Amino acid sequence: MQLSHEDDLLRDHPAIFRKLRPRFSDGERFECGAGWKAIISNLATDLARIALEADVEPPAIVMVKEKVGSLRVYLERPTSEIFEPAIDAAHDQSLVICELCGAPGARVESAHYAQVRCGRCAGASREQEPALAYRRPRSDD
Ligand SMILES: [Zn+2]
Repeated sequence: MQLSHEDDLLRDHPAIFRKLRPRFSDGERFECGAGWKAIISNLATDLARIALEADVEPPAIVMVKEKVGSLRVYLERPTSEIFEPAIDAAHDQSLVICELCGAPGARVESAHYAQVRCGRCAGASREQEPALAYRRPRSDD
């Protein structure tokens, strides 16, 4: 994911992403397209809320990646099962959201890959990220 998008997520959810380290020499932490940014942000919000309600420490996400065409998020172990439904929901949402731009999409499979793409992004790779259809809400808190 482009680092400018990653910076938004890290800034908005510092507790949840406190253990998420760069995976590549360019500093990239999120191994997926920015079209899933909203899903990841909403998941971080949900995890923090669930932890607060259960009166436990916020979980730490240690890996976020696209795998076989869907969003996989891994928490630091040991992990309480109270967070599993939110993780599963984010995975399911990623199956119908274009990984590159955030527009409604569908799973595209071939012998070599599986991806979720909208009609406009069909055939594009993660290295060719288009402008996001998703716009971050203006909040300025
Ligand atoms: Zn798209």
